[in-house]
Amino acid sequence: MADPVQITFLGGLGDIGRNCAAIESRGEVLLLDCGILFPDEDMPGAEFVLPDLEYLRDRADRIVGCICTHGHEDHIGSLPHALEWLSFPIYASPFTLGLIRNRLEERGVIDRTTLNSIGDHDRLRIGSFDCEFIPVTHSVPSGLISAIRTSQGVVLHSSDFKLDLNPVDGRRTDLARIGAISRTDGVRLLLCDSTNSEIPGSSRSETEVGEVLRGVFAAHPGRRLVVAAFSSHVHRVQQVVDAAVESGRKVATLGLSMKRNFALARELGLLTMPDHAVIDVADVDRYSPGQVCVVSTGSQGETRSALAMAATGDSRWIDIGPDDTVVLSSTPIPGNEARVARMINNLVDRGAEVVHSGQLDVHTTGHGKQDELRTLHTVADPEFFVPVHGEVRHLVAHADLAMKMGMAADRVVLARDGEQIELSDSGLANRGKVTSGDYFFVNGQLIENDRDLFGERSILGSHGVVNVVVVVNRAEGRLLARPRFESKGWVGGDAAKDLESLGADEVAAAVEEGLASGEDGDLERLVRRAAGQFVNHNTGRRPMIVPIIIEF
Ligand SMILES: [Zn+2]
Ligand SMILES: [Zn+2]
Repeated sequence: MADPVQITFLGGLGDIGRNCAAIESRGEVLLLDCGILFPDEDMPGAEFVLPDLEYLRDRADRIVGCICTHGHEDHIGSLPHALEWLSFPIYASPFTLGLIRNRLEERGVIDRTTLNSIGDHDRLRIGSFDCEFIPVTHSVPSGLISAIRTSQGVVLHSSDFKLDLNPVDGRRTDLARIGAISRTDGVRLLLCDSTNSEIPGSSRSETEVGEVLRGVFAAHPGRRLVVAAFSSHVHRVQQVVDAAVESGRKVATLGLSMKRNFALARELGLLTMPDHAVIDVADVDRYSPGQVCVVSTGSQGETRSALAMAATGDSRWIDIGPDDTVVLSSTPIPGNEARVARMINNLVDRGAEVVHSGQLDVHTTGHGKQDELRTLHTVADPEFFVPVHGEVRHLVAHADLAMKMGMAADRVVLARDGEQIELSDSGLANRGKVTSGDYFFVNGQLIENDRDLFGERSILGSHGVVNVVVVVNRAEGRLLARPRFESKGWVGGDAAKDLESLGADEVAAAVEEGLASGEDGDLERLVRRAAGQFVNHNTGRRPMIVPIIIEF
């Protein structure tokens, strides 16, 4: 009987984000990605959400390494936090490692790990896991499919992928190798990206976007072109650079991450351009608008991003005006639509022309649609399949797709965050929740998983707070001073002062009555109730009421 293999999903199955899975066999734990989730509006104050790292704390001394499949935040962003608690080696392609290194250095945890470079087609042992890495196309360079040979056969993890047959760097997904593994060893279990599993057809090739971008450059001679894209999307940046250089323009970067990733990609030979075409953003104004192109971050309208600042006239680097054509070479990630719309309005208000993916095909997805998923399923021909990387709807749509392709229902296993699947001689089973799968929130220095905090922050954010300070002498049963009503974010201007004064009187009366009648057992409650009734009666609002009782 061969040793069983367990895979525990610590994030990414139920959300698009915080991808992290722990593969366990013979007492060893191998991690597959360690990413973050961007919080939504229900989590005010959270900077990002981590996977359920608690599970790993109990197994800290058994983690043999972490494979990072590619350089997106939802796959590497939690490493700086995980390495505060844990210590393990990281395995990734040189570009992915470059991105990881920046983050670990910033957080001061670089010495908690070793960074191990993996190349296309490398096969190496991590602990006792025999791992092979296969090139795959995605919206960041050097993505890797992992074929992990375990005591229960090959576990094939697709990574985030599309099947781009005409990629910018010519590095295609090695379907032939996957087919060969399938024929020789067989694929026991496929874990596959579900992001676009609801969408029929195939994704457009990245090179088609390059054609559209060239057209935009050709149509705007004499105007300055500012093109915003994800800074890690080196192939998009390459196509912007190519269009700029072909039209005789110099290229400057705007935004710290664009500057950094641009330099990293050039250093690794992933982004190529003549040195003379690169200028510093500080020198942009020395050229006429038709002679320059600025490649910028901020395509998602992030408030503090370089482009959003430029759109409101707050950039120290560039002034956006009527000579500018701004190209947003992306689509808003769900949740960012309003921010992007606001930024477009700000840009247009300053006289700029804006080109976005709603008008022209200046963007394509990095995730395969149904036909591409079918192709991978066909080539891998797995015995078992678990859809990963998606919201519930995506996971279920992907499971349906596999079953419609002829996979037996008992070979398609749905799982969610916190659940563990087990591969054994008798097949694949979902063993249910073995850990909470809870969200862990990063907010400043602390990591927390208390959701009640967001309820409090929502009340504070939408209704404000009223502090009621009451000073009493219990022994003598009297108030020692007039109560103080202090509010923030409850009512604006002079009205607040008037109401605070009236409220103080109301609370004074209630406390005096309570003290006189001996019903002052729970003064805090009495004060909260009196202040709450006053506030609600006079304003119809429900701020947080904080009684502060000082007793002598
Ligand atoms: Zn992803
Ligand atoms: Zn990705």
